[in-house]
Amino acid sequence: MGPVFAWPVRPKGAFYVSAGYLDPNYKRRFGVPHTGEDWNLRTGGDSDLGYPVQAIFPGRVVAAGYYRVWGNLVVVEADPWVKDFWAERLGEPLEALYARYAHLHHLTVARGDRVEANDHLGSIGKGDGGRYLAHLHLDFPRLPIPPEAYPSQEAQVRAQYLDPARVWRALAFGDRSNLLPQGPLYAPARLFVGDAEALQGPLLLRQVGDKLYARSDA
Ligand SMILES: [Zn+2]
Repeated sequence: MGPVFAWPVRPKGAFYVSAGYLDPNYKRRFGVPHTGEDWNLRTGGDSDLGYPVQAIFPGRVVAAGYYRVWGNLVVVEADPWVKDFWAERLGEPLEALYARYAHLHHLTVARGDRVEANDHLGSIGKGDGGRYLAHLHLDFPRLPIPPEAYPSQEAQVRAQYLDPARVWRALAFGDRSNLLPQGPLYAPARLFVGDAEALQGPLLLRQVGDKLYARSDA
């Protein structure tokens, strides 16, 4: 059996959350409450375009496709034992548990696929029509809801989505998933390693300790 939990992008320390759960700045800017977290490489801009995204927990892909505004997204429904494990750690019952990975550049899974934690799902992208700077939108629906759902009220967000920051506190303690292998890059990307030069073409990544090394085959 694979790991119980993996960071969706790694090394985690190379990323920051540009907009958190119910972030007031997000509400001010877009007029709707934020259902999860937006993850970006610290190098900024579109530097994370094409960066690999992995599954956080084992489960089944219940949606994988292109949606208005979202662009490509994947929803994974957690295996029942994972849901129970999370509920116990969070200290409250969960009716269901999903992870939604959105604005993906491309997908490597299809509806019905089974995934383990750390399985490659796709890569970071810019949303429908390239409308955003590249980032990973991540949220955790706790009820069965349509894949493209987006509530307009904060109370709905609280009722329907877990706060990812709470999840990390409850589950990521002692996590060593930064040491797991990760998927390939799929787009020109600027990396934060070495002298941070822009590398073009398909890249091979290798992780040694907490450092990520890349080379281009182009
Ligand atoms: Zn977002």
